[in-house]
Amino acid sequence: MGSEKKSRKKVVYRRHDRNPIPLLEPERRKKTFKEYALGYGHTSALDEADRCILCRKPPCTPSCPVNSEMEKWIGEIQKQNVWEAYKILRRNNPFSSVCGRVCPQERLCESTCVLTFKDNGQSVGIGGLERFVGDSIRMSGIEWVDEKEPPTGKKVAVIGAGPAGLANAYFLARKGHDVTIYEALPFVGGVMRYGIPEARLDRRVLDFEIDLIKKLGVKILTGIKVGQDISFEEIRKNYDAVFIAVGSGRGKKMGIPGEDLKGVYTAIGFLMKVNTGLVDPMLAPDEKVELPTGKRVAVIGGGFTAVDCVITSIRLGNETHLIYRRTRETSSARDEEWDHVAEEGAILHWLTQPIEVIGNENGEVIGLKCVKMELVPDPKGGRPRPKPIEGSEHIIECDAVIMAVGQGDNPLAYKDIKGLKIDKWNNLSTVDEKFRTNIEGVFAGGDVVNGGDTVVRAISHGKKAAEAMHEYLMTGKWEYNGE
Ligand SMILES: Cc1cc2nc3c(=O)[nH]c(=O)nc-3n(C[C@H](O)[C@H](O)[C@H](O)COP(=O)(O)OP(=O)(O)OC[C@H]3O[C@@H](n4cnc5c(N)ncnc54)[C@H](O)[C@@H]3O)c2cc1C
Ligand code: SF4
Repeated sequence: MGSEKKSRKKVVYRRHDRNPIPLLEPERRKKTFKEYALGYGHTSALDEADRCILCRKPPCTPSCPVNSEMEKWIGEIQKQNVWEAYKILRRNNPFSSVCGRVCPQERLCESTCVLTFKDNGQSVGIGGLERFVGDSIRMSGIEWVDEKEPPTGKKVAVIGAGPAGLANAYFLARKGHDVTIYEALPFVGGVMRYGIPEARLDRRVLDFEIDLIKKLGVKILTGIKVGQDISFEEIRKNYDAVFIAVGSGRGKKMGIPGEDLKGVYTAIGFLMKVNTGLVDPMLAPDEKVELPTGKRVAVIGGGFTAVDCVITSIRLGNETHLIYRRTRETSSARDEEWDHVAEEGAILHWLTQPIEVIGNENGEVIGLKCVKMELVPDPKGGRPRPKPIEGSEHIIECDAVIMAVGQGDNPLAYKDIKGLKIDKWNNLSTVDEKFRTNIEGVFAGGDVVNGGDTVVRAISHGKKAAEAMHEYLMTGKWEYNGE
């Protein structure tokens, strides 16, 4: 044992030479919806993979919601075996190329990388490498087909074709089950398609990963709103199990005076219109969104959605202001993205709270009345609270306002299920640890359970629920133990 230890190669910690991901220059990228993060090329990907010391007990893997086994697939990149790396990625996640782009890795896997433990070290660029592997397979033209087990004869319905529903269908189909997805909108992908702008997620990547799920035999029926075009009961009687993955994606406004003026949008209405050309009333009350172009736009909020509205508004040629009541450091968006939009010319107003939308005699927006805020300690010990500063009222002149202040419940699919336990937000956080609802054979996951989180968290729910659903389908055992 002792001699074995002595003969081990000395580990070299390359803490400070992370390869940056090249970006399109701000002046070019703000005029195009083309993806602006260009990704690693072969040389930089190999060099970045070489920074990983392939930990024997890697902290990065358990800090990824889908346990992506970094130490194994990064090891395969080091051996220049991208095919094997992709195989490992796909056994945990059917959307690794999407996650390589949109996951907040700096808060998940990368935040625990051992290279960060000393001397302000920089983590391995796990997200960039994940993207590199998926892109290499896609662009090689290789016909990728996932393996699956023989048919079980069991039928499953999934409601909602966002990341949670699609991931659930993928894992169940690989187990040999016959899966049909019911999707309300005329397209597949949920927020990945109608919310996240193409500038951050090239649709060819999304289409490639969705096509691989279809190749497994998963049927996707679009344009069917469960609870409106077909009842939940009708579905339940034709399938052995059901997974509800309808998200929690209804656009919301703030409840301040003036928000019904012409030119005030919900983030979902605005993004859906730009990304897909249509706005669905199920998710966005603003059915007729006329897009602001060449105007002054104020986006309110501090999360992923607000950043996406800013990115989109800039590309429509608008002077774009971001208004957030807290600080940049306490916002929930990715830090680097604030740098990116600032480079593109966004005007960022931190510690600023809108209190009224101001209109003219024609009912059109002409400004946003705001107050300045300061952060004060929370008496309950929580994160500091924003408090208005007296006499700080001011007006930000603008022609349109986009409210990116969170999304609301969308219970259309499940509101008529007799006896189903629903929480006070109309969501299904009432599921137990196996994502079972209190109705036998009915499972739920994704944003409809947690009220809104990340793509990778939704995928992890779909994956874990698929394991529990497989067990139920094969044994018939059912023991709901939620609250
Ligand atoms: C604008 C925006 C940007 C975001 N950016 C990021 C990001 O960069 N990174 C990140 O990790 N996360 C991001 N998020 C969060 C992430 O997108 C969500 O957490 C994730 O999409 C949730 O997945 P889901 O499958 O639960 O729901 P959704 O993606 O909302 O999908 C639900 C699907 O169910 C369908 N549906 C709803 N009701 C019915 C019905 N009655 N019948 C049939 N189908 C129905 C919907 O049409 C939709 O397609 C963002 C969210 C938004 C809104
Ligand atoms: S913690 Fe960092 S160095 Fe260790 S396996 Fe994960 S990525 Fe590699």
